[in-house]
Amino acid sequence: MQSMEKLDCRGYLEDELAEVCLQNGLKKYRANQLFNWINQKSAQHWDEIKNIGKADRDTLNRIFTLKPLEIMRIQQSKDGTRKFLFQLADGETIETVLMDYTNLDSRDRQTVCVSTQVGCPVGCSFCATGMAGFRRNLTVGEITGQILDVTRYLQQEDPEFKVTNIVYMGMGEPFLNYEAVMKAIGILNSENGQKIGMRRVTISTSGIVPKILKLAEDNPQVGLAVSLHAASNKVRDRLVPINKRYPLAQLMEACRVYSTQTNRRVTFEMALNETNASKEEAMALVSLLHGMLAHVNLIPVNPVFGSGIQRPSKEKITDFKRTLEAGNIPVSIREEKGLDIDAACGQLRQRLESEIDESVKPS
Ligand code: SF4
Repeated sequence: MQSMEKLDCRGYLEDELAEVCLQNGLKKYRANQLFNWINQKSAQHWDEIKNIGKADRDTLNRIFTLKPLEIMRIQQSKDGTRKFLFQLADGETIETVLMDYTNLDSRDRQTVCVSTQVGCPVGCSFCATGMAGFRRNLTVGEITGQILDVTRYLQQEDPEFKVTNIVYMGMGEPFLNYEAVMKAIGILNSENGQKIGMRRVTISTSGIVPKILKLAEDNPQVGLAVSLHAASNKVRDRLVPINKRYPLAQLMEACRVYSTQTNRRVTFEMALNETNASKEEAMALVSLLHGMLAHVNLIPVNPVFGSGIQRPSKEKITDFKRTLEAGNIPVSIREEKGLDIDAACGQLRQRLESEIDESVKPS
């Protein structure tokens, strides 16, 4: 008899689980119980599921896999930021970052930055992930698994721990894995699961114009951030190569459509480095965003080994901010997180790979 490949039960909406259960002779309520155990209680093994009898659990075990991502390494910063390096079933590695804001000003916000691809095909010049190239898209279960497994890990320290916000800003371009990302958002939003509100989710894109327009249609509650990094095509072509395919005029038009349809402002990320922190770029940014529902986040870049890109001085960053304020553009400098660990996207994975290379070098 031909053996069927098992399904990853962390990658299914509740309705879909119910359909699979019914097709396999199980009652629909078993799907609701299973969904709850996986997505609300972060169960990682079949024997944790107490209210489903052994016979039905065995049936579920024949259909589905239930397996956590393997934690290979955790780095913890003095400021509460924690970076997880997970290994996937095929041996690939991804990073997930928990930014703990709890102690800063009692906002009680636990934001997790998740990855959506192994590597990234966009190849931004300041990014360790982009430098390492693209391997594959993550599955839905690998995306939801990052939230579930971080939650489970942190609940060992604090049983009340809960992720409140998600940013799709880790490794990979989320809009190049659009369907999986949208489904993961739906699963994590479910009442019977983590109940993470749509308005507490932000997708960050390097500028995939057709998908910005699709997001505005499909899920207007989800926030949009754009990794802008430059206000002129000349500079942006160099920093974010996807700009050659979707140049600034097209990108800004799509952002305007998103804002009009959703009535939400777009966050524009500017990773400031020595090449884009000039007065001219700041003035070009003021003209580009004039009249838009926008907020600019200035992020002094974390130096990435091998990129040659350097962090600008504090004075340059402050001058840049002042120019935007003078042009009536809402702006903030992003709190610097995890500077004492490999916090920039792809850095921990890059470090691990270089350690592996070192360890296999002939002496
Ligand atoms: S910054 Fe984002 S889009 Fe650009 S290469 Fe890195 S992961 Fe990809």
